[in-house]
Formats: sequence, C-alpha cells, structure tokens
Amino acid sequence: MDYRINLPEQEMPKQWYNVLPDLNPPLAPPLDPVTHQPLGPEKLQAIFPMAVIEQEMSSQRWIEIPEPVWDIYRLFRPTPLVRAHRLEAALGTKAKIYYKNESLSPAGSHKPNTAIAQAYYNKQEGVQRLTTETGAGQWGTALSFACKMFGLECTVYMVRCSYEQKPYRGILIRSYGAEVFPSPTDKTNAGRAVLAENPNSGGSLGLAISEAVEDAATHDNTKYSLGSVLNHVLLHQTITGLEVQKQLALAGEKPDVLVGCVGGGSNFGGLVLPFVPEKMHGKGPRFVAVEPKACPTLTKGEFRYDYGDMAKMTPLLKMHTLGSGYFPPPIHAGGLRYHGDAPIVSHLVDQGMVEPRSYYQNDVFEAAKLFLQTEGFLPAPETSHAIKAAIDVARESDPGTVIVFLYSGHGLLDLGAYDAYNQGNLKDDTFSECDLQNALATCPKINI
Ligand SMILES: *Cc1c(COP(=O)(O)O)cnc(C)c1O
Repeated sequence: MDYRINLPEQEMPKQWYNVLPDLNPPLAPPLDPVTHQPLGPEKLQAIFPMAVIEQEMSSQRWIEIPEPVWDIYRLFRPTPLVRAHRLEAALGTKAKIYYKNESLSPAGSHKPNTAIAQAYYNKQEGVQRLTTETGAGQWGTALSFACKMFGLECTVYMVRCSYEQKPYRGILIRSYGAEVFPSPTDKTNAGRAVLAENPNSGGSLGLAISEAVEDAATHDNTKYSLGSVLNHVLLHQTITGLEVQKQLALAGEKPDVLVGCVGGGSNFGGLVLPFVPEKMHGKGPRFVAVEPKACPTLTKGEFRYDYGDMAKMTPLLKMHTLGSGYFPPPIHAGGLRYHGDAPIVSHLVDQGMVEPRSYYQNDVFEAAKLFLQTEGFLPAPETSHAIKAAIDVARESDPGTVIVFLYSGHGLLDLGAYDAYNQGNLKDDTFSECDLQNALATCPKINI
C-alpha cells in the first residue's frame, strides 16, 4: 500500500501550460478603468515587467520555465502526491482520495511557484523593489522569499485584521528581509482615504492592492506583484497540475474529481487547467471549486466587469465579483477573502465546467481536524475548505472514484484559529444580501 507518489527531479515539467489559446469562446479582455476600452500592454508597463505582460496575453500553449526559476523550484519540487489512506479509513469510504502537497515549499504554500517566476522576470528587467499586498500573509511570505533569492527589495501591505490575527506571518516576512505594514497605512492616498473615514478599519485585500499599486506606480525602479487572479499567475501554478498528471500516470490512475479552494483562483487553476483540453472534448474529471460562505464570490457573486481593487486603479476584469467595495467578515481563511476571482476560473464557471461550493468555517475546521488526526499534517484554514469538499465528494461518490485535491498550505502559523475552534469561539459569519447589493452597486456599468 503506497502513500506517496514521488516524481523524480528530472521529470519535473520544463514548461508551464497556458490555457488561453484553448479557451473557446476566448476570455473577455481586460479593460482600461477610465475609458472602458480594451487595455493595451503599454498601460500595464508602469506596474509590471514586459515578460509578465506578454505572458498575461500570450497565445502560446507551452511556455518555457527559465533555468534559474527551475533551479529554485528544485529546493522543494516536485512535491509529492499522497494517497490519504487513513482519512479514507476514518470516513469508511471506498473512494480514493489523493492530495498534492504544496505545503512543503519554504513559504509553506503553493505561492512560491509564481513568486519565484515573477521575482526572476523583474530582476531580468532591472527592477530593484517589488510591492505587494497580502491577506493571511502567505503571499507576502512567498514573495519575500523569492525576492531574497534574486536580490530584490520587497514591501508588503498586509490586511490589518490578518496582521493582528497572525503576528507570526509579519515576523517571518521581516526575517526574510522584507518590510511589512498593516493596511490601511498612512503611506498612500488610498490608505489615508479609508483611515479618514474609519481609523479602526480592519482593511481588505482590495484596499491593500490599491496601496501596493500606488506605491509601485509612484516610485522608480519599483514594480508591483500580484499573487493570484491574473492569467500569468495561474500559468505559473500549472506546474502542480502537470506534476499531478505525471504522478497519476505512475500510479495507474485516472482522476474523476479535482478539488481546490478558491481565493483568487490560482491554486485551483494550477491544478485543473492542464485538464481543460480533455474537458473541452467532453471527457476529463469534474472540477470542484470551494469557497467560504462569508465571501461567496463564485456561488453568489455576479459575472461582470469590476475593478480588482478598492480605489478603482486596476484594469477592469470580467470575473465573478461581490463588488470591489465589499469588506468580507474577518474569517480565519484570510487568503479566501477576495471580492473577485481569476477571470479564467470565472470563465470556466460561466461555461459550466466548474462546480462551485461554499462552506461555513466551523464545518471546515471540523474537516481540518479529522485530516490532522488521520494524515498528521496541519492544514491552513484555506486548504481546509478543499479538504471539507473532498470529504463530501467522497461521501457522495461511487466506490473507486479517484478524487485529487490541492493541499495548498500548512496551518502552523494559524494556530490562533485552531485555538478559537477548539474553544468553540469560531463564528459562522453569514453574509448579508443587503451588503452584497450595496457592494455590487459600486461596479461599473459595462454592457459586454
Ligand atoms: C493564498 C492561499 C490560497 C488562496 O489563493 P488562491 O489564489 O485562490 O490559490 C489558498 N490556500 C493557501 C494556503 C493560500 O496561501
């Protein structure tokens, strides 16, 4: 009885998979936030390096992983695909549950897969400093690590409620040599505007993005880096799905259901996108996307153009959104508190290729605890959403069904959340229809 399916290092993919040329109908283009016309690449140059902008719009199916990026991947890749035999036994299920363990990276999540690539391309183009936002702190950690690998400086705007809930993330980010500020800050116009209205604001990812973009746009040799949502981020994450394909082949298995949690859609996209071509031919596995009921972007949001940030500085993206002014309740899965979603994932949901589901956090932590007590690893609260869904899918499925979920990160810096759960102090925030209508009212009116 095997647990781990390890891929030899020389089998690690040398290319990422770009789904854009395989989407039919094609993805709706990003629009200029002021003119509402399709955005030219030159508009993005103030905040992104050219190589990243080209990937964002590329029609090339396979994109070479640069040698220096591949070399840093080797510190922790290929990651194992693990059969959760003990979880299966505890559930009494005859389904087969596998998880792709991305928690074994230095930062403890899948996020270095894109952080390393983005830091590399910025370094190549002479950039000296990267700015970014972070929710729960995993992205800030990943980018701080990646910047250090390539000798770049790094400034992180961390959503204040997470900064306070998870002080150890800030310590880790500083230890990697980056600077980190609780957002809203008084360093940017976007931050100052929110503080003027509410000095105690807990912040949001949308606001922290505004601050990081403003910092990059107003400083020389500084660019901005986003950890999710955009096409190039999902592209870099496809290394996980490509490895899973090889590992399942080694195990002689065909997947029936792929499961991932969705914040901005990058770990989910990375897992499922390499399976899209089969799916376009009516074959291939089911795709299940999981989100919190407190921030139900795919299950309750509208599919329309919206801003990526609160200050309405980013391009307009066609995506499922709760409105860029939506402040989600401070649940512990901070990485899933984003008002929008990757345009690629939203497109697949709209095309009926993805089944979205949402859960309350107490149910999610119950699943996390069962996983911890059977498989031994402590999952991040975000990851636990995928675990909860994988368990439910196993319960609903026929014997022999092969379920693969993406284990996006560990929860060793989220112990405060586990403490709250153990003590019965976790709230199941419901989301209000009225808040949604108010936030959606802030979306631009565009008829495409
Ligand atoms: C950031 C994060 C997520 C959510 O982000 P996606 O872009 O949707 O993947 C999920 N799990 C972990 C552990 C994270 O750090």
